[in-house]
Amino acid sequence: MNAPKETTKDAVKVPFIDLRAQYAGLRQEIRAAIDGVLESQHFVLGPHGEALEHDLAAYCDAKYAVALANGTDALTIALAACGIGPGDEVIVPTFTFVATATAVVRLGARPVFADIDPATFNLDPAEIERRLTPQTKAVMPVHLYGLPAEMETINAIAARHRLYVIEDNAQAIGARYKSARTGSLGIAAGISFYPTKNLGAYGDGGMMVTNSEKLAAHARRLRDHGQSGKYHCAEPGWNSRLDEIQAAVLRIKLQRLDDWTAARRAHAQRYNELLAGVPGITTPNVPAHSEHVYHLYTIRILGESGRRDRVQQQLASLGISTSAYYPTPLHLQPVFAEYGHKPDSFPVSEQASAQVLSLPLFPELTNAQIERVVESLATALKETT
Ligand SMILES: *Cc1c(COP(=O)(O)O)cnc(C)c1O
Repeated sequence: MNAPKETTKDAVKVPFIDLRAQYAGLRQEIRAAIDGVLESQHFVLGPHGEALEHDLAAYCDAKYAVALANGTDALTIALAACGIGPGDEVIVPTFTFVATATAVVRLGARPVFADIDPATFNLDPAEIERRLTPQTKAVMPVHLYGLPAEMETINAIAARHRLYVIEDNAQAIGARYKSARTGSLGIAAGISFYPTKNLGAYGDGGMMVTNSEKLAAHARRLRDHGQSGKYHCAEPGWNSRLDEIQAAVLRIKLQRLDDWTAARRAHAQRYNELLAGVPGITTPNVPAHSEHVYHLYTIRILGESGRRDRVQQQLASLGISTSAYYPTPLHLQPVFAEYGHKPDSFPVSEQASAQVLSLPLFPELTNAQIERVVESLATALKETT
């Protein structure tokens, strides 16, 4: 008796992300490409990796791209190639994924946290000069959720203080700031191919993108143990090489990326329209000069403390999967306790952490699913104060 009911309920569930639907449309091409790698017996740093570097650099309007094992390494190696090390400070937003800051720690340098702009969730450029010390060597803006940070202002401040600007472009491949692609706006950028990212591999992968020939060459040495040529090593590096299976998969997916981004934008637009009259929330705020790629569609749940969590639980009970990115700002993470930050030290980020909620968004999402999310959200908001 219960079985048909279960099926009905399952049918209206909306997942947060569905990678299966994407794979279904690519299965034959992907399988043939993976088979080709197996037949070639060339597994690490080969023709697929080189072709991907070439195509990805072009895609980002940049001169060079260096294929790496993951996005975190891309940030770490970009910083290392800029000479960041012990004693140096790097300004990073506190409202981001932890890897933005651990990439700095990995080099023996110190991440110095900065607050965000409440309208965009991105680094507040005015914070840079507040956090500046004689040790500051770089600033790492994050294009959070797929929306470019305010790069013109950030670059101007950085130029004044001779800071390197390294973009954390893990979430924003294809985004544009004043018609320029993210990844080409600083000295270097890190991209992630984690499976759930807009351009996701079937495993880990990453890329450092830069216009500097010198940085690119340095990154190529650093990803291969620091070796320049075979068995000649002048500095310690990493083992951070992209494998050919991932590169082959990514080459296929890169050809579809613009279509997927267009679908993400259309879904975001639909959410915006349907949510326009819903009280107690805010929808994404996109400056006129920026093109958002909606890695995540993130709203705020306004109201009393804990309301976001209650809304999220209600949505879950209605079959709607959502996520909070990120529920704890980095300055309050145990890993950074040594810096002694207390609650209320970065109020904008702390409020964002308590209020943000990302709704289901992936290219294959249907209009019916979007409508269901919005109806469920309206219900959850009514039942939650
Ligand atoms: C995913 C992500 C990273 C790390 O990328 P990995 O490929 O998982 O190492 C870094 N920064 C941000 C903002 C991310 O979203």
